Amino acid sequence: MEARFQRTQRLESLGQLAGGVAHDFNNLLAVILNYAAFIVEDSAGTPLAKDAEQIARAARRGSDLTHQLLSFARREVIRPRALDVNTVVTEVHQMLRRSIGEHITLAVRTAPGLPAVMADPGQLEQVLVNLAVNARDAMPGGGHLTIDTAAVAVDADHAAGRSGPIPGRYVRIRVSDTGTGMPKDVIDRAFDPFFTTKPSGQGTGLGLATVYGIITQAGGTVQIYSETGLGTTITVLMPVTDTAVTAESTQQPPAVVDGH
Ligand code: ADP
Repeated sequence: MEARFQRTQRLESLGQLAGGVAHDFNNLLAVILNYAAFIVEDSAGTPLAKDAEQIARAARRGSDLTHQLLSFARREVIRPRALDVNTVVTEVHQMLRRSIGEHITLAVRTAPGLPAVMADPGQLEQVLVNLAVNARDAMPGGGHLTIDTAAVAVDADHAAGRSGPIPGRYVRIRVSDTGTGMPKDVIDRAFDPFFTTKPSGQGTGLGLATVYGIITQAGGTVQIYSETGLGTTITVLMPVTDTAVTAESTQQPPAVVDGH
């Protein structure tokens, strides 16, 4: 319990720091992008225009990164409400299908009649996107991605362990892949902000930290089961709420699929 509390506190202060830096940095990048666009315009057709385009491209990449930092720092307004996880999974299905590529098969199995959970639909969407992007990256040569939902009860016997859920009723979301898997030292650090094993420019190390932050803030837990060479299953448990689901639609601005 203590370790979880410390991790949450560490995440919060890192989030604040990252959010502050990202916000100011984003303004600077906007200036760079603007001036690069002026140069491209003024020097159309010359080698200088090509160089300025490179500057703009790098600044855009930096801007994507700062948006990820801002979303990790959770500076957006969060609107938790009672929702059906299956609705979010179904709505995000096509987007995930497109973003994981042809070489990976996607199976989505939603258990009918799920109880409601209290969460922000946009954030839940982001959780699914982040987990699916990681699964995709772990299967460069192709494989299977499975997302399933279920209603589960955790009793005192199964709640043991400091990072496990407390006894109660939960909605479970599992995201499984047949990818590279993770060695123990990677599992131990996977939720740490900025921890990544991906080549520079491809990973921010914020995907799982964001998932962890969103789910624990909603009172849930995230656990990693992984075996190198076999694949990874991320299990998310979200506590059931007694509040009735109001609106079925989860319409939100589209989530960023490229990266986290
Ligand atoms: P990023 O994806 O930017 O590296 P994450 O926080 O999402 O950051 O993930 C941290 C690290 O955890 C990844 O670099 C990778 O080594 C490992 N990881 C996460 N998900 C998976 C997965 N499904 N299969 C294998 N390794 C994974």
